[in-house]
Amino acid sequence: MSCLIKIDNLSKHYLLSKNTVKAVDNISLKINKKEYVALMGTSGSGKSTLMNIIGCLDTPSKGSYYLNNKNVGELSDNMLAEIRNLEVGFVFQTFNLLPRMNALDNVALPLIYAGYAKDDRIKLAKKALKEVGLSDRVYHKPNELSGGQRQRVAIARALVNNPSIILADEPTGNLDSQNSSEIMKIFKKIHQKGNTIILVTHETEIAKNANRIIKLKDGQILTDEKKQ
Ligand code: ADP
Ligand code: MG
Repeated sequence: MSCLIKIDNLSKHYLLSKNTVKAVDNISLKINKKEYVALMGTSGSGKSTLMNIIGCLDTPSKGSYYLNNKNVGELSDNMLAEIRNLEVGFVFQTFNLLPRMNALDNVALPLIYAGYAKDDRIKLAKKALKEVGLSDRVYHKPNELSGGQRQRVAIARALVNNPSIILADEPTGNLDSQNSSEIMKIFKKIHQKGNTIILVTHETEIAKNANRIIKLKDGQILTDEKKQ
């Protein structure tokens, strides 16, 4: 299996007046292509901090991070922005869709930054919306969609660029159990198609969908177990 993420002795510390918060504390970790990983832990255990570093939204205080064999710490801001856009698809708990844009335009947005022509953007965005079962909601705005449908639009937006990793931070946190299970079915399908997924959750039932569960505590890895 080829290695997608390689993290060595990575830390993220915050200095608050006299106290240092070790949000991520000396973590080493490898994740291969096509893995489906759940990152678990109680609130404040460092899940989002680690996720944001993996997604190149944040930088570590110490240690190294290689994504696709590239040393992320050595990249310029422009190159980081490019990696974020091309290699990482984000899904957030609060969907983070642009309210004035319809589903199609929200999904097509990353393709503008990636330099696609308009016809291609529309074609690819429609294809991504079809994959999440929303072909009949293409022209709806976020407030004309249910919570589960909004999250499906966000997943389509994360997928549209065909990124190396999908990072989802508590993607079912704002959804009821039926919508949560629909969303988890979509992640399963995306994984079966060959995508790498890292999913943050504090719910055991949600984490069971993954093939590997990493538990964090106080910024450190407590356990790291693969499904048999
Ligand atoms: P989780 O996502 O597991 O709930 P976080 O990664 O958000 O945890 O936070 C881990 C720890 O780092 C927490 O104790 C939090 O208070 C602290 N923390 C996160 N971001 C900051 C920040 N910008 N400044 C100071 N402390 C922070
Ligand atoms: Mg969090």
